[in-house]
Amino acid sequence: MKRVDYDLIVIGSGDAGSEAALMAAKAGKKVALVEADKWGGSCLNYTNVPQGALFHATQVMQKAIEGAKYGISSTNLRYNYPSLNNWKKIAMRRAGANSKKPYEEAGIVCLHGRARFISKKEIAVGDKTYSAKKFLIATGASILDTGIKISEDVSYLLPENACDVARLPKSIFIVGGGSTGCELAQYYATLGVETVIAEIAGRLLPREDEEVGQVLDMLFNKNKIRVLTQSRVIAVEKDGNEKRVVFMRGGQEKSIKVSEVLFCTGSAPNVDLGLENAGVKFDRNGIKTDNTMRTNIKHIYAAGDVVGGHSSTEKALLEARIAATHIIQRSKSVVDYTGLIRITNVHPEVACIGKTEDDCIKNDKKIAKITLPLNVVQKSNTTDCRIGFIKLICDKNNKLIGATLIAPHASVVIQELALAMRYDMSLEEICNTPHVANGWGEIIRTACEQLAYR
Ligand SMILES: Cc1cc2nc3c(=O)[nH]c(=O)nc-3n(C[C@H](O)[C@H](O)[C@H](O)COP(=O)(O)OP(=O)(O)OC[C@H]3O[C@@H](n4cnc5c(N)ncnc54)[C@H](O)[C@@H]3O)c2cc1C
Repeated sequence: MKRVDYDLIVIGSGDAGSEAALMAAKAGKKVALVEADKWGGSCLNYTNVPQGALFHATQVMQKAIEGAKYGISSTNLRYNYPSLNNWKKIAMRRAGANSKKPYEEAGIVCLHGRARFISKKEIAVGDKTYSAKKFLIATGASILDTGIKISEDVSYLLPENACDVARLPKSIFIVGGGSTGCELAQYYATLGVETVIAEIAGRLLPREDEEVGQVLDMLFNKNKIRVLTQSRVIAVEKDGNEKRVVFMRGGQEKSIKVSEVLFCTGSAPNVDLGLENAGVKFDRNGIKTDNTMRTNIKHIYAAGDVVGGHSSTEKALLEARIAATHIIQRSKSVVDYTGLIRITNVHPEVACIGKTEDDCIKNDKKIAKITLPLNVVQKSNTTDCRIGFIKLICDKNNKLIGATLIAPHASVVIQELALAMRYDMSLEEICNTPHVANGWGEIIRTACEQLAYR
């Protein structure tokens, strides 16, 4: 009988693939990890880490600009673009971008190349084939083709190279007002690039509640970002040395001339790896799995962006850990998305958990809700931060089912609600827990109290 090469082959070394490969290797499994591009996947090499480092820098600059209001002025405030890029590279190096060292140190065999299933138990990488008892597919997602007509002689940016340009453009047109589009719009605008953002829906961040879009509108107005909602981009053409973006708005065709165009139009799962040869079921939304992240083929699992749904590192890690647990040993654990936080890294941050009011209305769910402005807490006054709000939604049993917070450090502050929702804490239990009175956390306590005793 032919020997099987590995206990587990993981395809894709991003958040999901890395996590599962390292867990399985730690548990003593013989693991191979295949990567077609850079070790560590999108988060370390293209998205969260490089962009996070740059956003941090531009937010520091924004704060320095605002300092003038409080008597702290820095005449000559400016940035040096090569130094900003250098800082990004330092952050990436520290985070371990494009390094296979952690895998090799854990005893994982690293195979560089594009993997393709040739049967249920074998993959090909280049001209070699490898077999395994189990597989995890963690190939992530790539930009979605939206059918916008782009002239052949026009270059453009995508989210993964948006922060990797040699020189900043004078002006930029961002197509897509979801999380990535909004984050990059604020980044460019802070660096003085004339920024336009277009969204086909009636508001920015259309998957969140209406108030979120309203606050972003206000914020982007302050940031001098031009927001075009209900605008469907149909073409990008060359116009001299620049580009012309053509879009439909209010039933009319309009166009704007800019120096750069960036597409943030969402992503589609990377399913082009011979899944048919292994019999794995998938559709345009991704690979189908059960709640243990197992596909229809019993020894093949999938996790991360390739299975669709909300795209985030936290979700990828959650799914990878469940898959790895089942790969390593018999287990009863199933994936539970309760408490997963959706972040938009603008300043102030947007953080949302669970259901939106729109979700509840669509599903005819009886709810109670509360929305409070930031100035219900002292921190808003002492930090002069008034753009934002908290909104909580509970079901007819007073159980918290949704939360939105737009505030500085919202991603940290909202974490306690993730814990509360996941472990079924009541509104009273949350508001009876002492919170730092002069901190942002007090807004959570205040909102829970007002919703509990309404
Ligand atoms: C601009 C942007 C910013 C983001 N910022 C954040 C953020 O701040 N916080 C957050 O939580 N999430 C963020 N996300 C989402 C987050 O980056 C992803 O959800 C997460 O990285 C997905 O991890 P993954 O392991 O599923 O896929 P990936 O990290 O994309 O890894 C997939 C890997 O598989 C490889 N691969 C694909 N096909 C093959 C093949 N056939 N053979 C071998 N290798 C293959 C790819 O080269 C890639 O390295 C952001 C996304 C974008 C686009």
